[in-house]
Amino acid sequence: MNIILLGPPGAGKGTQAKMLQDMFNLAKLSTGDMLRAEVSEGTPLGKKVQDIMTRGELVPDDIIIAMIRERIKEDDCKNGFILDGFPRTVAQAEALDKMLAAEKASLDYVVELKVDDAALVKRITGRFSCGKCGAGYHETFSPPKQAGICDACGSSEFVRRKDDSEETVVNRLKAYHAQTAPLLPYYTQKGILLSVDGMLDISMVSKQLEAIIGKKQPAAASARK
Ligand code: ADP
Ligand code: ADP
Ligand code: ZN
Repeated sequence: MNIILLGPPGAGKGTQAKMLQDMFNLAKLSTGDMLRAEVSEGTPLGKKVQDIMTRGELVPDDIIIAMIRERIKEDDCKNGFILDGFPRTVAQAEALDKMLAAEKASLDYVVELKVDDAALVKRITGRFSCGKCGAGYHETFSPPKQAGICDACGSSEFVRRKDDSEETVVNRLKAYHAQTAPLLPYYTQKGILLSVDGMLDISMVSKQLEAIIGKKQPAAASARK
């Protein structure tokens, strides 16, 4: 079963992708996480993209497409994957269609998380995560159960993304509306776009996704090889 989560920065894609990963045993492919790993390792690719990311602009399509093409060949993708943050342009969506066709695989769900711009700024500027295990939190909406201690691993080391600042958010939202929002009509035309209300709290959004995706049995849904 292959799923795309679409939505603006801060919509909750990463949070919900994690839930779906655990519930349906799918690989979670986040191009943002992949790029941040390159940056923190100081690879040539990381050096190329770090300033673009800090400005909140999109990384060139060819870099992203090559990255995903390699990633979906890995073993953990055999049972299917959830794409979080990819595709982000029509060119990326077209490249994905070709990759899937070549593998005789298909897209089972493209789900849009609908969230107002005004709510996104608060979600992004309050976001932080565990520096050790990567678990995601929010100052107001999803704090650790015990302040300062990661629920998942007990670490007390937390990190914030450099691009989660108020100035950069404006650029990221602009990039979303100009370059990514055209994917909504793209997938509507293919008849596979579904929308969920991303303004509800995290567990309510999860419930909506479970209801949509749980309808199809993973084994029957997987068209991969
Ligand atoms: P968010 O989850 O807040 O939407 P991401 O972690 O997905 O942010 O992306 C962070 C940054 O990484 C983006 O602002 C962009 O610079 C880059 N990036 C991630 N995915 C893509 C992509 N598919 N195409 C182009 N740039 C991307
Ligand atoms: P994205 O991957 O789309 O950029 P995230 O999943 O990282 O978004 O969520 C952005 C921030 O908002 C995180 O701090 C997360 O804890 C919080 N968050 C996610 N979903 C919700 C929700 N439904 N209501 C309130 N806060 C949320
Ligand atoms: Zn942790």
